Amino acid sequence: MRKLSPRSAVKFGKMKRFFLILAAVFSVLLCGCHDETPTTTEVIVVEEGKFAAIKSGEEYTVKSGFSVLVNGKLRGEPGSKIVVEDGGELLVNGELEVSGELLLEGFLGVSDSASVCGAGTVFVNEFDEINCEGRFTAKITPPAPVVKDGVTTVGGVIIVNKAISISPDYGNGLTEDTEAALERMRKDSGYEMPLISGFRDYETQVAVFENWCSKNGIEDAERFSSRPGHSEHQTGLTVDVTSTDDLFAFTDEARWIGENCYKYGFIVRYPKGKEEITGYVYEPWHLRYLGTSTAKLVHDSGLTLEEFLGAEGGDYRGEYVFSR
Ligand SMILES: [Zn+2]
Repeated sequence: MRKLSPRSAVKFGKMKRFFLILAAVFSVLLCGCHDETPTTTEVIVVEEGKFAAIKSGEEYTVKSGFSVLVNGKLRGEPGSKIVVEDGGELLVNGELEVSGELLLEGFLGVSDSASVCGAGTVFVNEFDEINCEGRFTAKITPPAPVVKDGVTTVGGVIIVNKAISISPDYGNGLTEDTEAALERMRKDSGYEMPLISGFRDYETQVAVFENWCSKNGIEDAERFSSRPGHSEHQTGLTVDVTSTDDLFAFTDEARWIGENCYKYGFIVRYPKGKEEITGYVYEPWHLRYLGTSTAKLVHDSGLTLEEFLGAEGGDYRGEYVFSR
């Protein structure tokens, strides 16, 4: 493990045992959902009120099996590089300033009173390697999209839109996490939030879409209905709640959802004024489950899911071929 620069307040010896215990407690509190705790945990602590700097041209690595706990401030200056190896963890309880680069192959935990800021960029492999409860304003650069078995993911997050399709056999209902999150949100909000539409399989979407086409013509149908294989409802991670009437946007309930749904792991998938990117007009009822940490990151970024993931979006790429 590389040593932090002299300005750091890293202390070993007597304090180490205490910090190991502290870090263990901290890990349990912060990282309840990740099971890859380092095997030979050695903790290096940046104390509260102190700070450590990684200077331009320097590289600081959190090695596999190591935890670095930042109770004070860790500052990666412009031109510096922080690497969190697979099996290593960087736990931020104070402030992490990324003004250079941070390569995240291991785990990054950000407690609710902590912040990750700076003008640099955080390179992420898998979004579930971040557990963010605090403020995260540093830019995130996701990995390139991966297509496997007809399903496109970016850093482990499934993406389906007009430009990116999903395999016809994918999905078999709403995921348990999605259902549980909706239930928690209902309880806390006090709104009933009836499920208008949850999981829709490929065949159902063929029938729904082509039915709208025969009634209204394809041009009109495509404004509010997805082509089969392009509906996010097929992921089992998407719900339409309460009402799909445009007037729903003006209700207190829609406002509550817009402000709070990220706390339960959802985002309003098609925000206002982003039709060119998402392919859909504002739908305050259409919620996509991402898990609480990723939903918070997307929410805090102010970006659409396409922008956040660096994924293609916009309109369909070709003509629709009718099944009958
Ligand atoms: Zn929907």
